[in-house]
Amino acid sequence: MQNAVALPTPKDQLLFTPGPLTTSLAVKQAMLHDAGSWHWEFNGKVKAIREKLLSIAGISRAQGWEAVLLQGSGTFGVEAVFLTGVPPEGKVAVLSNGAYGERAVLMLQHARIAHAVLRTPEDVPNDPAALDQLLASDPAITHVLAVHCETTTGILNPIQEIGAVTRRHGRTYIVDAMSSFGAYPIDFEACGIDYLISSANKCVEGVPGFSFVLCRRAVLLATEGWARSLSMNLLDQLKGFEKNGQFRYTPPTHAILAFEQALAELDIEGGPAGRANRYRENHRTLVEAMARIGLSPYLNPAVQSHIITSFPYPNHPAYNWTDFYSRVAGKGFLLYPGKISKADTFRIGNIGRLFPADMRAVVYAIREALVEMGVPVPPAQ
Ligand SMILES: *Cc1c(COP(=O)(O)O)cnc(C)c1O
Repeated sequence: MQNAVALPTPKDQLLFTPGPLTTSLAVKQAMLHDAGSWHWEFNGKVKAIREKLLSIAGISRAQGWEAVLLQGSGTFGVEAVFLTGVPPEGKVAVLSNGAYGERAVLMLQHARIAHAVLRTPEDVPNDPAALDQLLASDPAITHVLAVHCETTTGILNPIQEIGAVTRRHGRTYIVDAMSSFGAYPIDFEACGIDYLISSANKCVEGVPGFSFVLCRRAVLLATEGWARSLSMNLLDQLKGFEKNGQFRYTPPTHAILAFEQALAELDIEGGPAGRANRYRENHRTLVEAMARIGLSPYLNPAVQSHIITSFPYPNHPAYNWTDFYSRVAGKGFLLYPGKISKADTFRIGNIGRLFPADMRAVVYAIREALVEMGVPVPPAQ
């Protein structure tokens, strides 16, 4: 009888998702080790990763910035900023045009933190003028949160304009850059950012296991005594790293080893600007190839990021998402369901270890799947 463990491993499907995403072989191989979480060797890696994150972001400790790593997915990082950084009487304004803005609102409800929400439709960027009015009329607001790339649609929000308004009113600025950090150069000073949150398994191309918060040291130190959570207290997490170099509780050791390699690869690619070039090319290739089979993006190109693209369903009775998804998956490509409330869409991510040839290949598979289903597509050119 054959042992299931000994069967050859089929090739992994390529992930056209917003994370976790397809990683390089070297990133996966970096995890073939057991690291002692208290040992100086591992602590040295954590220290180096915190430094490298700052340098890739174009900021430094000398200029007053810190990088704090936190166990858990990206959501934990955003929630930790609220639970650590908002004072007992604080109030947060959330700019929302998608599911991640709405998730931030849910966090504030759960933490019983006062908040106000400024919504725009899912295909319309955040409105800095509306924020200006809100901050002028509500002095109780202490913090503003914006989502850079709202992964729900792939829309890009104007974080610099929002930052200018926030700064002018003297409020603390939090940016959820989960799906954009590493793939868009972000000018922290020009945007007036106080806290920026991202995670290991998005555009840095590591594996899931932790989030990281890049923040102004003075802003974080001023939160002493405010924390509403023990494990998600970013100030204590920072103090832990500074005391003995360790995470306070069990670290995601393998994810850290993978991340060290992922950061080196990001550096080799030319940092966020270099990676942006590849993702932009992926996006351009995707949109062109999809146009040739009669499918065009949901968003106006002026507000579309190069992170992920939403496409409305083909308008034909023979189309159904589950069948379509399974057929494309069977050909080796994992698409991502849509999340837009008022339109039926699916999403294709451009991020991860993917190249323009992969984008052409996924569209070829999509074309075949549609033909098999009896959904008409324009003849191949
Ligand atoms: C992915 C994502 C999150 C949440 O990250 P998880 O790792 O799934 O918890 C938050 N905000 C944005 C914009 C994201 O893309």
